[in-house]
Amino acid sequence: MMHNLKFLAAAAALVFACGCASERSGQFVPKVAFTFDDGVAEHYDTVAPILEKYGFRGTFNVIVDSVDRKKGSVTWAQLRDLDRRGHAIENHTLTHPNLAKMAESNDLAGVEREVTLSRDIIASNVGRAPTFVCYPFGAWNAATECAVRDSWQKPMCPCRRNFGEGYAPGDVTRYIEECIEKKQGIVDLMCHGVSANGGGWKPFATPEIFESYVKEVKELADRKLVKVVLYRDCEIY
Ligand SMILES: [Zn+2]
Repeated sequence: MMHNLKFLAAAAALVFACGCASERSGQFVPKVAFTFDDGVAEHYDTVAPILEKYGFRGTFNVIVDSVDRKKGSVTWAQLRDLDRRGHAIENHTLTHPNLAKMAESNDLAGVEREVTLSRDIIASNVGRAPTFVCYPFGAWNAATECAVRDSWQKPMCPCRRNFGEGYAPGDVTRYIEECIEKKQGIVDLMCHGVSANGGGWKPFATPEIFESYVKEVKELADRKLVKVVLYRDCEIY
């Protein structure tokens, strides 16, 4: 009898560790990734501390040529620190061009350079090679897919939803519920800026509103309706 109890306790612990103990037992639990594009300075100053306050980590897709150079961009020292704190640095190309248009005009060498040189520069500056390429403007085609995979990276799925400008309470909860309904396995919550003058595209009006958005996801995660992970870990869970 004692043996059986021990077995049951171990099995329960295992279910808990797997994150399968949804309040809707046995139901589909999507993986949610917070992603941040373009390497805006406030990703380091504001976004990362807010995510960490709720126990989350983010995926930061950087434009390699802008890092350390463009005003209002993150620095390599900051990206190394984010990596050390458990966040992920991924590849948003060298200069943020429309890769599909480049490929259509037969500039395949340019496409290759945009995804491979950026990969190498991230690897040498951060100490970890990126796993994913995030397509600028969500623009891709068969040739860009080949270039990304030939560089031993994977393309991020372009089915992402930007949150920021015009955000109202409940928006992200409703969106995730729609994704659960559709059995969408990976939910990419994209964001650029978190303050009106921070330089990001279509930003949240204030960091406080961004924090309320993170809190909404935290409530869903606490109820085990979603699991929040780095984008690169979505496929593992
Ligand atoms: Zn971008």
